[in-house]
Amino acid sequence: MTGLRVLLVEDSLADADLVTALLEEGRVPVLVEHAPSLSGALTALSAAPWDVALVDLSLPDAWGLDVVETLRAAYPELPLVVLTGLEDETMALDALASGAQDYVSKSELTPQLVLRALRYACERARADAAARRAARLSAALLDGLEAPTCAVDGAGRVLAVNKPMRHQSEGSLLTCEPGDDLSVLWRGESPEAEAQLLLIGLRDVLEGRRPRFELEYEAPDDVWWSIRITPLPAETGAVVMTVDVTAMKRAQQELRRAALHDGLTGLPNRTLLLDRMDQAFVHTARSGGVVAALFLDVDRFKGVNDTLGHAAGDRVLVELSHRLLRVSRATDTVARVSGDEFVVVWVDTSEAGARTRSERVVAAVNGTVEIEGREVPVTASAGLAVGTAETTAEELLRAADEAMYAAKSHGGARLDMASTELRAQMDRRRRVERLVEEALEDDRLEVHYQPVVQLATGRPTGVEALVRVRDRDGRLVSPGEFIEVAERVGLIVPMGAAVLDKACAEAASWSGNAAALTVAVNLSTRQLAQPDVVATVEASLRRSGLAADRLVLEVTESAVVEDAEAALRAMTALKELGVRTAIDDFGTGYSSFLYLKRFPVDLLKIDRSFVAGMLESPDDAAIVASVVRLGRDVGLGLIAEGVETEAQRHRLVQLGCTDAQGYLFARPVPADELAAALAGTERPLEPQPLRPRRGRPAVDRAVLARMHQMYGHGASTHTIAAVLNGEGALNPEGRRWHAHTVGRCLAASSATA
Ligand code: C2E
Ligand code: MG
Ligand code: MG
Repeated sequence: MTGLRVLLVEDSLADADLVTALLEEGRVPVLVEHAPSLSGALTALSAAPWDVALVDLSLPDAWGLDVVETLRAAYPELPLVVLTGLEDETMALDALASGAQDYVSKSELTPQLVLRALRYACERARADAAARRAARLSAALLDGLEAPTCAVDGAGRVLAVNKPMRHQSEGSLLTCEPGDDLSVLWRGESPEAEAQLLLIGLRDVLEGRRPRFELEYEAPDDVWWSIRITPLPAETGAVVMTVDVTAMKRAQQELRRAALHDGLTGLPNRTLLLDRMDQAFVHTARSGGVVAALFLDVDRFKGVNDTLGHAAGDRVLVELSHRLLRVSRATDTVARVSGDEFVVVWVDTSEAGARTRSERVVAAVNGTVEIEGREVPVTASAGLAVGTAETTAEELLRAADEAMYAAKSHGGARLDMASTELRAQMDRRRRVERLVEEALEDDRLEVHYQPVVQLATGRPTGVEALVRVRDRDGRLVSPGEFIEVAERVGLIVPMGAAVLDKACAEAASWSGNAAALTVAVNLSTRQLAQPDVVATVEASLRRSGLAADRLVLEVTESAVVEDAEAALRAMTALKELGVRTAIDDFGTGYSSFLYLKRFPVDLLKIDRSFVAGMLESPDDAAIVASVVRLGRDVGLGLIAEGVETEAQRHRLVQLGCTDAQGYLFARPVPADELAAALAGTERPLEPQPLRPRRGRPAVDRAVLARMHQMYGHGASTHTIAAVLNGEGALNPEGRRWHAHTVGRCLAASSATA
């Protein structure tokens, strides 16, 4: 151990000698130097380093606390021990308060006592210095934070603030001082209630319910503040940091606005519109009113763009948006949903009210727009649909869109109402949705099988699996009533998987002749688009043990056309499993024959509608003939669907079609009746008497023209059918139009045109 260097400051030589002797007597090596006055002490201190000073408080040049304070000021780190007389107890305590580390009384000096006091003083001084340094560092750290920050106690009273908090100018910025309440940091509206939030947050943080609390608000001066409260470890208090997040907030708002608004007109876009409509329906559910959507499409807008340029087109759209806003109230939503399509939505109105408003909107929109000094006539076609809480936003928009197409096909610049059937139709859809959902849950799906036979002999080659749903009352419901809805709402995916599973399992269990039959399962567009479609098929094969080459997957032509790339990928992967693929309802979907070359397809199924019409309609006959020729040319198997008469069978054989299914041979039957059905399909081909050909009733020319017009505008065959039905137009057979009949008319009339 090295010696302790002690500076003894003492004017009495006798006392000095006594203390020196005492110190040198101890077991610890000590080096003592004596200074008889304060100035002497200062000189000695400046000349060499000392571990500790032992100081008498009555010196010739200074007295009492002055001595302590002078030494403290000059050497703040130097440990001080005060030497006192018996009567100086009070003074000694004062000296401690002024920064001395300890005191010893001259009357009770022993070597151990003095040494212990000196040692203890050194220790205390070191600890004090470290604490002072830590405090300085913390203060510097706090002050170094750019964010105005303060520390509060458990009750939310401000204990200390950092420099940025102290230096914020009064008025526009957030500021507080020690002694303030935390709630002064809330400067938003409704001060009482919201400021409470800060105190609740503080309590939550202090009681450990959350690691930190953050509150963001906009102050009346448009500055956004974030107030963050984190607990102070080992204290019942917290650090409160206030951050000006205005720039970030503005950026966020701008991003959100851009994502939900149209850049050109600033109107809400489709996403925001759908969101507002959903809210509107929630509101209507409570109020019992109706939500109305008016769909507007600018007439001949393409013409404006093509002849006057895109800038002119933009001018027209912006001007229209102004006109729409001018006739709307703040509670209405005016949106631009695509190029030249706008939608106005009214909440809580009546059907009559919506109609009046729609007429006002159409009147406001139609007119001229001035472009480079020219008055360009601008009109729009509008469709109005009204829905209740039962309706979805998409349904309402689709209905309004269909009505708009009707307006367009009536020449444009006018308003049409969606058919009043809309609501009934929606109710029906919802019932169907529930039916399928429940049937899936309760395992009430059944699969019926229809034999596929060789046309010439009637000998069965396979079966097609066709789904049926047993409703709660035990009635069997056919796919015609639910497939479309199931497809639309996505239920087709689990339903299709269940059918596939069941069909594979049942087919695998058949014995005798049936054990060699193929089983064809329908795959919907949606199923084909599932990323796991291949895995699903593979799993059904594995579970059932059915040989892959006994499974045929039928996809509709529209699935192939809608997303050719995805369909191609999925079908290629399916073929790799060893299953076969068929294109169902061929001829209805406008697929280019080119697809056939690219697609990994084994079979074409000629749609029932062509078979049904082929003896009467030269168009249908031509389509069937060309599909058969095409199939034979590219080496595909051919199955004619819906063969009901010997005459049809005959004609198909003549054309070169090989296989068929239809009521002529067998209807779809449950698995347990299949053996009997298969036994009854075989029959020889009877020679047919020649019959004079009758022309099929032609489609009304005006209807046909409308169809082409709508199709030219981009309407789907579904939409066209809906429009025609809405107007009461019937198809040549005197029945309601369906998408496929529309498709057939379009195809036939463009083929003969
Ligand atoms: P599809 O795949 O074209 O099936 C043939 C449809 O024609 C069946 O109607 C069948 O009962 C009917 N049919 C067969 N022969 C004749 C006939 O001689 N005359 C008449 N008028 N009709 C005949 P079904 O069972 O009502 O099925 C209708 C459609 O529903 C099917 O057409 C298919 O597209 C779809 N579908 C049926 N089951 C499923 C399934 O499990 N999954 C998927 N995605 N769709 C299915
Ligand atoms: Mg099929
Ligand atoms: Mg079919």
